[in-house]
Amino acid sequence: MKLYFILLLIFLNFYSLKAQHIYPESIANEVKTALAYYPELANVPIEFKFKSKIKKSTMQAQPHFWSVFCGKSKRKYKVLISENFKIADTVYYTKNIPSKVLIGWLGHELGHVMDYQHRSSFNLIGFGLGYLFSEKAMKKAERSADTFAVIHGMEDYILATKNFILNEAGFPDIYINRIKRYYLSPEEIMLLVEEREEKARLSNLK
Ligand SMILES: [Zn+2]
Repeated sequence: MKLYFILLLIFLNFYSLKAQHIYPESIANEVKTALAYYPELANVPIEFKFKSKIKKSTMQAQPHFWSVFCGKSKRKYKVLISENFKIADTVYYTKNIPSKVLIGWLGHELGHVMDYQHRSSFNLIGFGLGYLFSEKAMKKAERSADTFAVIHGMEDYILATKNFILNEAGFPDIYINRIKRYYLSPEEIMLLVEEREEKARLSNLK
């Protein structure tokens, strides 16, 4: 009996360690691939969740409301993923998006989580308000999420996502221009990669 109890405890402990990241089985591979680029988030609770509709966006990373007030180490996040999204009059289904593009998309959202992790509770609240009401703040946040993803080595996926949005998906110009306005361009991404590699080269010389 005692042995069973110990085994159960070990199991529960193992399970709770594994349960930091919760995601739907249908995108398990994509989530795991994206998370592998962010070792700092290994112990940060993040729940990935499909939602039937998200206002004006396809995915959204956000802290759990109450955990904002608990301090950084106890913070929990969720990444909401729209099951489908409508651009102009066409409905697109997330499940039909190529795997590599989805990984890039998730990598961008995890970039937001990294950004949040660097902020105090007070700063995070100000940031949230800024994002809602100021275009400039929103642009800064989106570019910062892209930057985190590239610094973490996800450029191939981020570029696949960009290419999909800008060239492959057949989205209308108005949407494409919005993306161009708020996010990093492929050229800026390549510059970041060069910078990252130069830094790595210099630190190897030391
Ligand atoms: Zn974003």
